[in-house]
Amino acid sequence: MNAVPLIPSHQSTGKVWLVGAGPGDPDLLTLRAARLIMSADLIVHDGLVDPAVLAMARADAQLVSVAKRRSRHTMAQGDINALLVREALSGRDVVRLKGGDPFIFGRGGEEAEACRAAGVAVEVVPGITAAMGAAAAAQMPLTHRDSASVVSFVAGQCKGLTEQDWSGLAGKGRTLVIYMGVATAEVIADKLMADGLAPDMPVAVIEKATRADMRVLRGPLAGLGALVAEHRVVSPAIIVIGEVTAINDKEMRKLALEAIS
Ligand code: SAH
Repeated sequence: MNAVPLIPSHQSTGKVWLVGAGPGDPDLLTLRAARLIMSADLIVHDGLVDPAVLAMARADAQLVSVAKRRSRHTMAQGDINALLVREALSGRDVVRLKGGDPFIFGRGGEEAEACRAAGVAVEVVPGITAAMGAAAAAQMPLTHRDSASVVSFVAGQCKGLTEQDWSGLAGKGRTLVIYMGVATAEVIADKLMADGLAPDMPVAVIEKATRADMRVLRGPLAGLGALVAEHRVVSPAIIVIGEVTAINDKEMRKLALEAIS
């Protein structure tokens, strides 16, 4: 089979690939993402992209970081869109590398729109989103048949958090996964309890999922703020609310008890 280069090198207008870099571990990249990263000559990436993934780039590739932090933007979204369009129109192929999946809370939709509006071809390569990576790494089946038949993803850091209508998303038979919720964990717990969730509903915080230094913390909903504060949870971390968070915990405890008896 002839190898078809994913990035053609001779064409007048370049193309933008919106590529999901997954939750951290480079082994969780799609084959297409890995090929693009290894062949790109320009990679525009987020702060969330793991250094081990960036290390796969060609030694002579140009890596541009457009890392965003809460309330401290290195580059505004409009400027990122403009950069992608400008580089592509100048004839370069651009790999826009984003943590997790480009279309889950990644503003990939806006970048794709900007490219299309400028007549730049864009292709999207999905990635394993943080919820799926974290659930797998923590062995926490988000829709375990006995515990949940619904799973929802919400953003915990958004304008007007308290006004967001999350009613019905969490509770018996349902799993709620909260992205970007660590800084507002206490507000989130209060909000969910005000919506009628039991204070002892089990929750988990998964920090740096799929990375070597991943941590999984568990507790009741009422103690979520304290859990995050006591363990000094840092970004990136997701919060999972629901009975599925206790499944592996129970198994682990049973194994530990068996081991000592
Ligand atoms: N597009 C990304 C999400 C971007 S929003 C995706 O699909 O995963 C950024 C949030 O994702 C972080 O605040 C955190 O809540 C979550 N996140 C990303 N990587 C993570 C990881 N390795 N472990 C835990 N949470 C992660």
